[in-house]
Amino acid sequence: MSPRNQASQLALLVKLQDIHAQKRNIEKLLNTIPQEIDLIQAETDRYEEEIEQTLKLEQSLESQRRSYENEINDRDQKLKQYQTQLLTVRTNIEYAAMLRQIDGLKRMNEETGEQIFHVEEEMEERRERRAEKEEAHRRVKIENDKKIGEQTQKLEQAQKQLETITARAEKLRAKISPALYARFQRIAEARDGVAVVAATGGICQGCYTRIRPQVFDEIRRGDTIVQCESCSRILYYDAKQDAKKA
Ligand SMILES: [Zn+2]
Repeated sequence: MSPRNQASQLALLVKLQDIHAQKRNIEKLLNTIPQEIDLIQAETDRYEEEIEQTLKLEQSLESQRRSYENEINDRDQKLKQYQTQLLTVRTNIEYAAMLRQIDGLKRMNEETGEQIFHVEEEMEERRERRAEKEEAHRRVKIENDKKIGEQTQKLEQAQKQLETITARAEKLRAKISPALYARFQRIAEARDGVAVVAATGGICQGCYTRIRPQVFDEIRRGDTIVQCESCSRILYYDAKQDAKKA
């Protein structure tokens, strides 16, 4: 490969490395956004579950109330029977016994009536609490659905960006010699995605090791691919950065 070509290959690698870094960031977003959406949805779902639970409790209180009412109805039936029988009783003893039965049933009905009162009170309390929860749920859902919409939009944008950037990376890659690209990929994998670094001020900007003067001269000429003797990263000369350092 001609020296000029070598320099442009290095420039392409630097560009490609930058694109790869952007690609990793987008991929990170593509991973985290769905998790974020799940968290937001889980919050809305939690409200719904709580409402569902309160509703179930209300239903069980309602069925308790109904069973108390049935008890009272049954006793009322018996009371009616006893009151009719009372008219046909012959002895005082039988009469007194029947009155005792009637009093007993009436007392039990009063107690059950009290219980119904308490159950209804609790039901009312639960209903109020559920209404509050439902109101909160409505607010949270509107807010969270909006947030999910925004996140979904971000996700779609990131997907599009990934497509664009992947195409750009492919275009660049096609211009780089396969052997050099393979070397670049190997180093990138071993060095956290950073395979090409500047040799600013005679120092490798990847591992901050001083570069031997004759090697640095080689890098400055830019006609060969030079790797850092310490970290193996490909080194290039950045005149602008070097001027800033000097
Ligand atoms: Zn190095």
